[in-house]
Amino acid sequence: MKHHFLPKLALLFIAFLSGAAYAQDLPTVALFTTGGTIQSKGAHRQKLMEYGEGRVTPAELLADLPELKDIAIMEVHEISNVGSGSIGADHHLRLAKQITETLARDDISGAVVTHGTTTLEETAYFLQLTVKSEKPVIVVGAMRPFTAASRDGPFNLYNATRVAIEPTAVGKGVMIVLNDTIHSARFATKGHTYHVETFDSRDIGPIGYTDSDRVVFYRTPLVRHTANSEFDVMDLDELPKVDIVYGYQEASAAPIPALVEDGIDGLVLSSGSRNFGGEIKKAQAAGIIVVNSDRKGAGRVVLSDRRFSSGYITADNLNPQKSRILLRLALTKTSSLKEIQRIFNEY
Ligand code: ASP
Repeated sequence: MKHHFLPKLALLFIAFLSGAAYAQDLPTVALFTTGGTIQSKGAHRQKLMEYGEGRVTPAELLADLPELKDIAIMEVHEISNVGSGSIGADHHLRLAKQITETLARDDISGAVVTHGTTTLEETAYFLQLTVKSEKPVIVVGAMRPFTAASRDGPFNLYNATRVAIEPTAVGKGVMIVLNDTIHSARFATKGHTYHVETFDSRDIGPIGYTDSDRVVFYRTPLVRHTANSEFDVMDLDELPKVDIVYGYQEASAAPIPALVEDGIDGLVLSSGSRNFGGEIKKAQAAGIIVVNSDRKGAGRVVLSDRRFSSGYITADNLNPQKSRILLRLALTKTSSLKEIQRIFNEY
């Protein structure tokens, strides 16, 4: 069509109409914000690692990224505005319930959760085990604050939203998107204190990439998750108490009786230590379930005859912090060692 034959006003009208129709066709994404570096402010643009100058609101986060309006309508749900060291069972339960309820609506395509990166993998794995939906759930953060000259937050949020509306992301469980890379929540762990390339899925690698032309997936997790998970937290207001004890040369066993005294239901070991044996036996005799994970963060902990006869659950290749999440959910269903080991084998 030769546009220059049309009066200018008519052209403007056509542009307005097509723009309006386009906006109506956009998918809606539910954005759940919790805080973290992606929302944090530093004193000036060169401050990449110190950012104690408050946090931006979800509205400021979105106003800063007008490009999102071209790809999705964002429906904001503010859960909290805290560092990820302050996230716990209360946040997990609220997120799992609200995301499940929101994704059940036909008008919602997917969910994005903003989160501090330090403990992001724990929340992502909790959601992977508890959100009852096939729709994509993407957990995103940033390594550099909102105010940094070279901040990574806006593009991470943009890419997380692209994955949340991506049809081929359906059924892949909860994903972590940072640094142009898509990881499964089951396998990713934070691996660097400040580099933007920090998430790493050690045993299997990332499942895809958010390239500029398209979102591309190369694999899909085969472990049980989301819609296919047996865990149901919709009626729960609290979770069993599980803690972690770190294993190292000459490790003191003193934390174990202290934690038992504190009322734990389960205990995860980051590896064994000769000194732990007696206190572990006492904890097990008191009904506490003990999971043997591994501090190396890659490779399975196999179910050897010795571990089996000592009553240990083995964590497969889940790191200690993720083993803790799975054990507390397992304990909402059973205290049978056999059943809990089955759960660790399947999730
Ligand atoms: N301190 C931050 C946190 O909330 C770190 C981050 O978001 O990268 O975990």
